[in-house]
Amino acid sequence: MALACPSPKPAPRAALPRVLIVEDEAIVAMDFQRRLTRLGYTVTGVAYDGQQAIQKAGETRPELILMDINLGKGLSGIETALIIQQHQNLPIIYVTANSDADTVRRAARSCPFGYVLKPFEDRELETAIQMGMVKHEVECRLRESERRFNATLTSMADGLVATDAGGRVEFFNPSAEAITGWPQSQVLGRRLTEVLRLHEDSGATTNTDFIVALGAQPMPPHGSRTARLERRDGLQVPVEYRAASIRDERHNLAGIVVSFSDIRERQRAEEAIRCAQLDLARAHAELTRKHEELQSFYHTVSHEVKTPLTSAREFVALVLESLAGPINQTQREYLSLALESCDQMRDCINDLLDATRLETGKMSVELRSASLGELASRVVAMLKPAAEHKHIHLSATVKPGVPEVAMDETRIAQVLSNLLNNAIKFTAAGGLVAVTVGLAPERSDWVLVTVADTGRGIPADQLDRIFDRLYQVKGPEEAGCGGLGLGLHICHELVTLHGGTIRVESAVGKGSTFYVTLPLLPAAAPGHAARPAEINRDVAGPARLPAAAAEFNLRKGL
Ligand code: ADP
Repeated sequence: MALACPSPKPAPRAALPRVLIVEDEAIVAMDFQRRLTRLGYTVTGVAYDGQQAIQKAGETRPELILMDINLGKGLSGIETALIIQQHQNLPIIYVTANSDADTVRRAARSCPFGYVLKPFEDRELETAIQMGMVKHEVECRLRESERRFNATLTSMADGLVATDAGGRVEFFNPSAEAITGWPQSQVLGRRLTEVLRLHEDSGATTNTDFIVALGAQPMPPHGSRTARLERRDGLQVPVEYRAASIRDERHNLAGIVVSFSDIRERQRAEEAIRCAQLDLARAHAELTRKHEELQSFYHTVSHEVKTPLTSAREFVALVLESLAGPINQTQREYLSLALESCDQMRDCINDLLDATRLETGKMSVELRSASLGELASRVVAMLKPAAEHKHIHLSATVKPGVPEVAMDETRIAQVLSNLLNNAIKFTAAGGLVAVTVGLAPERSDWVLVTVADTGRGIPADQLDRIFDRLYQVKGPEEAGCGGLGLGLHICHELVTLHGGTIRVESAVGKGSTFYVTLPLLPAAAPGHAARPAEINRDVAGPARLPAAAAEFNLRKGL
């Protein structure tokens, strides 16, 4: 039953409680009223018997009742107090001339807030009222805290059982009902061992007589464990549970509390995650295996094809140069076409082999100090004939004062050659292709090479995929041009291996510019001390375009 409770804050001295006097003798009642008024209290009314008291307690809303125990005929003061307390949460102080054991015992049963024996001094009355108010306030707080505690335990998702010191169930929350299948009404007062039947995964039954287990050892309680809980209907559900002892202020065992939760959902989720992880691991292993198979297949095929292709090309070249006897014009034309096809096929195979090496980490670069400007000029010089053949103006500009960079010349020549071949391929007659080498404007410790053309450009929506493996823009120029869409991918990987960057800007119909940056030698970079161990210096460097790079000037059928 909800009882009204005044504010739990202690009443300030000025706000003395409003008092209802219940006294069957009118003269004594008047005396009480006079004394209370003198002491500063407000008297809400005077009742001369039990019935009047019940009525006036409801009507005059007092904050305290001064109750004579002996009210003559009808209800006694104690009976009246018990009835009022059923409806109103009021402190009641008994005033009586009787202090015999029986009266005191009867009064005690109604939980009075004070007991004053007649006759009494004003001081005694005042003290009794103040003590009663404090006691009442403390009780209110205790009830409030109990209500909160009860609401929390009742609404929690975990099942909760509390027992008394004898192991009999005293508290059983709704979640405990749901998990065990036992209604609270049938559980209260039963032994916990009858209600909470736990079985280990091994099948052994856990002794839920925690009173014995926890009674022997003081806190802390044992940690959480899992087991199978046998519900009332015999079904077993997996639970996680935890038991703790409740101790009184003398540290004696006052009961135990067991919390438990149904972990079916959690176990299902864990199982699903385990299965998904297994599937993923299997799929990953399978993919890795297939990938390795494919790599080794590419490698083998490329090697197997490259050897006969090289000798076929050599023989075609030999016949073309009339070293095997004179040939006529038609034969020359056919043989030239055959040679071109051999070169295209060789480029594809080389790209495949490079891409495979890069992916398997077998591509290494040997960094040496060298001039990027000189290397770019040499690559441009080698590709000049191909550009002229297409009536394209190809130029190289090396800005003054560009320091050397750490690079593998063969590989950087391969990158430049690839970019230039593409530029020439996708630029129409009369167009321009320009290479520039200088310090990067945004970072003075980087060298920037740009390869710009006035060709057909790359559609904006494909720019971010252009360096992907096997990616080609679909267009009429691509048809029959050979290539596998590996060139730019290889460029990207090789530049990255050098610690550099590559990116492109392009506009359809206007042209494209590729930007390659490479870090300067540590000693040359402003603010950096030389670290010779980092770079295998060979200052003299190769004077000519490396042999492997020379191969690229013939790439892509140019
Ligand atoms: P592949 O190895 O087949 O020649 P790349 O990786 O070198 O392919 O280039 C990928 C695609 O990028 C090409 O198919 C081409 O469409 C486009 N591309 C590359 N460079 C240029 C350029 N300078 N101008 C226009 N398109 C280009």
